[in-house]
Amino acid sequence: MQGTAAVLREPNQPYSIEPIRFDPPRAGEILVRIHAVGICHTDMVFASGAMGSPFPLILGHEGAGVVEKVGDGVTKVRPGQKVLLTFNSCGQCSQCHSGDPAYCHDFVGLNFACVRPDGSSCAHDDSGPVAARFFGQSSFASHAIAQERNVIALPDDADLNILAPLGCGVQTGVGAVLRSLNAQAGSSLVILGGGAVGLSAVLGGKIADCASIIMIEPQQARRQLALELGADHAIDPATGDAADQVRAILPHGANNIVDTSGNVGAIFASLNMLAPHGALGLVGVPGSLDAVLPLPIVPAITYGYTIKGIIEGDSDPENFLPQLIALHAAGKLPIEKFSTIYPFDQINEAIADSHSGKCVKAILELSA
Ligand SMILES: [Zn+2]
Ligand SMILES: [Zn+2]
Repeated sequence: MQGTAAVLREPNQPYSIEPIRFDPPRAGEILVRIHAVGICHTDMVFASGAMGSPFPLILGHEGAGVVEKVGDGVTKVRPGQKVLLTFNSCGQCSQCHSGDPAYCHDFVGLNFACVRPDGSSCAHDDSGPVAARFFGQSSFASHAIAQERNVIALPDDADLNILAPLGCGVQTGVGAVLRSLNAQAGSSLVILGGGAVGLSAVLGGKIADCASIIMIEPQQARRQLALELGADHAIDPATGDAADQVRAILPHGANNIVDTSGNVGAIFASLNMLAPHGALGLVGVPGSLDAVLPLPIVPAITYGYTIKGIIEGDSDPENFLPQLIALHAAGKLPIEKFSTIYPFDQINEAIADSHSGKCVKAILELSA
């Protein structure tokens, strides 16, 4: 199957759109024609080479498209059906069996190894294999090969350009609030960072009926967006100690905090914002993989804090993505308010705009 992909030849270089040959789907695999794909921060982390990924490499893990062909044994979807792609999981381990596939025992291998489980690549150019299957997809491409576990069928009238980021960034932000932290109606919620995941967390806070939602974000435009999406307060950390500003609003502190910034200084400062029995959810990946959070142990004991690492919002995509699709249809997930659509061949501009803050969620649209 001849197609194209945005190939990263080396870490931190521009992507180049190149002809790529995709394998036909093997047993259990699904070949998807990609129509739209969101750009997520994790793409940039892997593009930096910091995760030790193989190169040349095809990234992209918020794909949405139409099933083109299915391998033997696939019954979940059929050719012509619109689908959303998400992270992959094995379906066999105790985590998967308990409805917790974001912590699948084989999560790293299935999502980050960028090869099939047998070590082969499903994408090739004239000089050999190209690493793909990032997050079980690699959707910065005309085609992606996924599996039943990481494909969700969409209604025929679904708008792929809008729904693409549900498969990672949106389910991470909304899921962090609703699933990982299980925020209760009437509780207070502080969110560090107003990117796509942080703004999705604001929407999660609204869905959970939190009484007080506070966004902490240095960029004015993003603070404004947070307020438009339902945050009650938006704090500029440059105008004074962020914990003091939160405690001026919530004297007893916040029940839940979601960090989407990955900024160790901001995360450390947020420990002073927690209410008794408060929980801090760590979502944002720091710039250094060796980043360490110093934890003041005595306050953590005295006030019963919980510090929780969160991947993919503890999502079980099979159940949670249909809920998010229904919430979007009901007007409760207006993610298009922070999305900007770019033609696929402007991927480098879209990434530059994501870095600079000119756009919040960039979505690449592939021509049919
Ligand atoms: Zn598993
Ligand atoms: Zn992501």
